[in-house]
Amino acid sequence: MKAQDYPAPVLELITRLKRMPGVGSRGAERFALWFLQHGRTDARALAAALQTAADVVSACPECGFFAQEGKLCTACDDPTRDSSLLCVVEQPTDVLPIERSGSFRGLYHCLGGKISPLDGVMPEDLSVQHLLERVHQHPGCEVILAVGSDVDGEATALYLAELLGRENCRISRIAQGIPAGAGLGHADAVTLMRALDGRRSLGS
Ligand SMILES: [Zn+2]
Repeated sequence: MKAQDYPAPVLELITRLKRMPGVGSRGAERFALWFLQHGRTDARALAAALQTAADVVSACPECGFFAQEGKLCTACDDPTRDSSLLCVVEQPTDVLPIERSGSFRGLYHCLGGKISPLDGVMPEDLSVQHLLERVHQHPGCEVILAVGSDVDGEATALYLAELLGRENCRISRIAQGIPAGAGLGHADAVTLMRALDGRRSLGS
């Protein structure tokens, strides 16, 4: 006798849901059953939204933040932004915490990670070359290094400061106050605002 279980499509759905961050086995099962018992309209709308997002969202060709395929992101496309301020972050997900702090009106640059030899991430794996090109396009700009304050973040900031030191730009580092080892996503708006306001100049 075979033990009773969900039909294969339900098991497949649970398996897929389980892969999402923060969703364990029980959560995945609960989601799947809710869709089937109460939320079929929502399920179809969610499937369509997922499909659209997966098909049309890509990295902004200028800064690396999320944008619609082939288009600039909202910040890069905004001529009222201060293009003499370039805030360098590790990940696209670091942009919105800064944006929501309301204390920055410049442009962003997402590196795509941080230098971490132990994890096999070297400078050439990051969007460093494009950063240099952008600095070239805005001579005299200020580059704010808003990478994390953990060991890899500091190493990345030092590497970039040395590289950018040969360019026509001012370099600053956001002030401490961001907890060591934590990403920007964990910082509240006030901490981020103070960290940006209290940024210090690097190099000459
Ligand atoms: Zn952009």
